[in-house]
Amino acid sequence: MASAYHIKKRLRDGSVLLIDKLNKAGEGNTAKSAGMFRSFFYSRTNFYLADSSIEFYRHIEKSGFNLGMRWIGYLWLFGESQFKRIELALRKMEERGGLFTVYDKEELRDKLKVNIEAAESDVGKVMNLANIENGLFVPKAGKIDVEKLVEFYETEFRRMGGKVVYGAKVDRIVVEPKISLEIPGEPYFWQDCTVKGVRVHGRIIEAKKIIIATGVWSSELLDPIGVDSYSKPKKRQIFVIRADKNRLRELLYVDGFNRYNCMPFTILPEPRIYIRPDIDEETFWIAYADDFNRSFKLEEDPQPEENYYRYGIYPVLTAYFPQFIDSYPINAWAGLYAINTIDHQPVIFEENNLIVVGAASGSGIMKADSLGRIVAAVYFEEEEAELYGNRRFNVSDLGIKKRRVEREIFVI
Ligand SMILES: Cc1cc2nc3c(=O)[nH]c(=O)nc-3n(C[C@H](O)[C@H](O)[C@H](O)COP(=O)(O)OP(=O)(O)OC[C@H]3O[C@@H](n4cnc5c(N)ncnc54)[C@H](O)[C@@H]3O)c2cc1C
Repeated sequence: MASAYHIKKRLRDGSVLLIDKLNKAGEGNTAKSAGMFRSFFYSRTNFYLADSSIEFYRHIEKSGFNLGMRWIGYLWLFGESQFKRIELALRKMEERGGLFTVYDKEELRDKLKVNIEAAESDVGKVMNLANIENGLFVPKAGKIDVEKLVEFYETEFRRMGGKVVYGAKVDRIVVEPKISLEIPGEPYFWQDCTVKGVRVHGRIIEAKKIIIATGVWSSELLDPIGVDSYSKPKKRQIFVIRADKNRLRELLYVDGFNRYNCMPFTILPEPRIYIRPDIDEETFWIAYADDFNRSFKLEEDPQPEENYYRYGIYPVLTAYFPQFIDSYPINAWAGLYAINTIDHQPVIFEENNLIVVGAASGSGIMKADSLGRIVAAVYFEEEEAELYGNRRFNVSDLGIKKRRVEREIFVI
C-alpha cells in the first residue's frame, strides 16, 4: 500500500492499480503484526529506513490523521556478558546521536519488580537463564495502530485516483517476448522477453511495470519465472495475557518510563521473549521469535501452538516476571515473517519491468514508508530515493548486485 501510494503520488495522471487476493488491504501478515516501531538500530540502513518512516508517521499524526502512536519506548534487559557484547556498539550509537538510558539492575528491580536473579533458581539453571545486570531504554520507540496506518495509505491512494481490486488472486506473472514470432512455447531464451503483466481470474492485466509486494507469498509468484524473492516464511506467534490481577496491573502501569506511565515494550535477556503492554486493552502481548528447528514453511492459516506458550514461553517469562504466574492466554494468533536469511534486512530490486519489494524480516511496518519511497525511486529509474526528512538513500543498497547493508546488533 505504501509503495502504491508513493508511486501514485509522483505519477499524478498515470494509473496505478493495486491488486490483493484478500478482501481488504493490510489483511496479510500486516494484520498479524505486533505493530511496534523503534528508531534504534545499529545498521545505518535499518536506522534510516525506520527513523524516516517513523518521522513520517509522526508527521501524518500531526496533520490530523490519528495513527494511534504511543511512544512507550523499548527496554532491553541484559545479562552481564550480553551487555558487555553491545557496549562498544552503544558507544558508537551515542556518537551518532542515538538516545537511550542505561538502567542498573537495582533500578530495574525497584521499578518493574523483575527478578534480577533468575539464573539462581532451579528452573533458571535448567534453562540457562542469565541474571539481569542492565536495562537499555530507548525512548524513540513505541506502538502504532497498523490498521489505521494502512487506512491512511489507502485513503490517500484512492483520493489521488489510485484504483484497488480486492479478492483478486494473481495466479501468475506473464512473461512474453517483445516481438512475438507466434511459435509454440515461446518465449525462448534467445528472444528478448519481458514481464507484460499478471493473470487474475484468467484475465491478463498488462502494465508498464509490475510491483510484487506480496510478503511471504512472493516466492509463489516469482519461483515459476526463475526470480528469487530472497526471503523465506517462518511462523511467529503472539499470546495475549489479560492484566486481570493486581500484580499485573501494577506492572502495566509502572511509573517513570514514558508519559503514559506504562511499562515499556520489554525484551528479556536471551531467550529474547518480548512483552508488549497494551494500556488500551489492559493486556500484555507475549512473543518469541524462535529460529533453529522452526521450519521455513508457507501456510495460509498458521496456528498458534498452546504448548509453545505453556512449556516454551511461560517458564522463562515467570522466572523473570513472577507477576505472570498462573496467567494463560485469552487470545493468540500466528503469522509469518518473510525472512531474508542472509542479512535480515529488506530487499528491493528490478528485473525486466518487475520490481520486487519484501523480505522485511519482521520489521516491515516500521520501515514501510521508506520502502515505499524506494520502490517509487526504482520505478522512476532513480539512483537515489528521498526518504522523509530529506534523507537521501542509495537505491542499490537494498538491491542484490550492489547490496550494501550493515550487520544488525539489536535483533529481537
Ligand atoms: C507475529 C508478527 C509480529 C510482527 N511484529 C512486527 C512489529 O512489531 N513491527 C514491525 O515493523 N513489523 C512486524 N512484523 C512484520 C510485519 O508484519 C511485516 O514485515 C509486514 O506486515 C509485511 O508487509 P507486506 O505488505 O510485505 O506483507 P503482507 O502484509 O503479508 O501483505 C502481502 C499482501 O499480498 C497479498 N498477496 C499475496 N499473494 C497474492 C497474490 N498471488 N495475488 C494477490 N495478492 C496477493 C496478500 O493478500 C497480502 O495482503 C510482524 C510480523 C508478524 C507475523
